[in-house]
Order: sequence, then C-alpha cells, then structure tokens
Amino acid sequence: MIVKVKEPLESEYSLIRSGQIVFTYFHFASYKPLLEAMVKSKAICIAYETVEDSLGRLPLLIPMSEVAGRMSIQEGAKYLEKPLGGKGILLGGVPGVEPAKVVILGGGVVGTEAAKIASGMGSKVYILDVNLNRLKHLSEILPKNVIPLFSNQYNINRLIKDADIVIGGVLIPGGKAPKLITREMLKEMQDGVVLVDVAVDQGGCIETCRPTTHEAPTFVIDGVVHYCVANMPGAVPYTSTVALNNATFGYVKKIADKGWELACKEDKGLCRGLNVVKGKIVYEAVANAFNRPY
Ligand code: NAD
Repeated sequence: MIVKVKEPLESEYSLIRSGQIVFTYFHFASYKPLLEAMVKSKAICIAYETVEDSLGRLPLLIPMSEVAGRMSIQEGAKYLEKPLGGKGILLGGVPGVEPAKVVILGGGVVGTEAAKIASGMGSKVYILDVNLNRLKHLSEILPKNVIPLFSNQYNINRLIKDADIVIGGVLIPGGKAPKLITREMLKEMQDGVVLVDVAVDQGGCIETCRPTTHEAPTFVIDGVVHYCVANMPGAVPYTSTVALNNATFGYVKKIADKGWELACKEDKGLCRGLNVVKGKIVYEAVANAFNRPY
C-alpha cells in the first residue's frame, strides 16, 4: 500500500504496479491523464476525497478545510498590511481605534474556522450562509463579535462596501461555487481590501479570482488584493500532515490489517473511497466526468 498526500505525479505513474493499493487524494474528475494512468496500472485506488463517515460527511477533506479556514485570516491579515498592498489596518485595532471588518461567505468548515480566528484576533466578523440551521448553529458556538447573517445579494452588497477582508468559503457539493462577488462589485469596495477565495479549487466564489501559487499568491484588480492559492495547506506542511494523518491513520491500519476487500466490506464509508479497481472505474461521478463505463 502506498499512502500519499497529493495525487501521483506523472513521473510516478509507471512505478505503480498491478494489485498495489494507492491511498491518497486523486481528484480524478479534474485530471484525465491521471485517471487513464491509474486504470492502466490495475492498482486499487482509494481516494481520500470520496471516503465518507457514518453520517455521509467527508472526514478526509475536513482537516484540509480546517487548515485553510484558519490560515485564510492569517493571510488576509498579512496582506492587509500597507507594504504588502493592503489598507494598512490591524485586525484587532487598538483601544480607541476600530478593529477590521471581516466578511466570510459560507459558514461551513472553512468559514467557521476563519470566524474563530478572526474573532479571536478582535475583528468585527460577519459570516453568511444560505442554510438557516447552520446559521443557528453558528450563533450558538461562535463568540458575540461574530454575526451570522443570511447570504443574499442584498446583504453581500451592503457588507462588502466597507469590509477590510472578505473570505470565500462557499461549497455546492459536486458543483461549481456560485459567483457571489462579481467584477462589477469590486468598484464598490475600498482600495487595499483583501479577498481570500479559499473556494478557488472549485472555481471560486469571486468572479475575478484565478488560482495562484505560494510563490506568487496575490494579484490586484481595481485596487483590491486577491489571494487565491489553490493549495493553502501546503504552506504549513507540518500542521497539515499531522492533521491529515490523524484522520487517515485509522483507515490505513484497517486496510493493512484486513486487506482492502474485507476493510471495504465492513466499512461502507471507506468503500465509497474506491474510485479505480484493477483497471475498472468504480465511482459513478468519476466515470460520468469522462463518459466512461461504470
Ligand atoms: P462546507 O461544505 O463545509 O461549507 C460550505 C458552506 O457553503 C455550506 O455551509 C453551505 O451552506 C454554504 N453555501 C452554499 N451556497 C452558499 C451561498 N450562496 N452563500 C453563502 N454560503 C453558501 O465546505 P468547506 O469544507 O468549508 O470548503 C469550502 C471550500 O473551500 C471548498 O470549495 C473546498 O474545496 C475549499 N478548500 C480550499 C482549500 C485551498 O487550499 N484553497 C483547502 C481546503 C478547502
């Protein structure tokens, strides 16, 4: 069994042999050559991103969202500094000076973790979601300087006008994120505002975002700083690796102890992780993405 973090690299394709178990993130639907190579290898490919727990959640995606959510505020605060292109505002302010205003779009894992850090640093935080039960939950667990609001165009328009940091953490499972901030809306925002679109890996919820890297993480449009790194946890590999291993290790041990067939038979959620088995695509969405038999 080969346990990795990221998808196999092209230089590794030919090293993977028939019958080997490869347990890692694959994201097959977004990269056809990887799918073809794994089908050809006849390996057993178990994808972190489709493993489910007993409630249908995705336990091996949660740690990365936790890291990215917390990090989004750290990055936002950094680029809010004047020498890095921002408005020159300290997140928590100081006695006698207003703190920064942080607007978070999406109150899932990323949004909640961002809200915790932003509020902990003393900023004024608004967190928006379309799920009323989620908003109720957020109002129960988050401190009083976080205001959960319903996500609609009226609230977004009014809040971004004097926001200092906007975080994008919206997810429509299996679909592209909706563009909640359009290019036109940037004109309403102040110079030096920082947009951190964490959802960029799913297309982003800010129209002007395009994926960036840790080497060149930001760009500026209409005076607004955009941070859109598609692999944020990669900048804090120590934290990310331990967080991911905490979540994967139980599965690794189960597969090692029992073999993948018995382990998957006994754990239906782990079985959902099977994407490609001995040359066959066994995950419907992956097959559908390329009109392949399933
Ligand atoms: P999640 O499912 O926990 O939360 C998404 C939330 O968005 C849900 O609460 C949902 O109700 C809400 N939502 C849907 N439509 C909305 C709308 N119109 N307005 C406001 N909220 C809306 O997802 P998550 O784990 O928090 O992940 C969020 C995004 O971050 C995903 O696209 C994920 O892939 C991405 N992500 C990126 C990185 C990175 O390095 N860039 C790392 C981890 C996760």
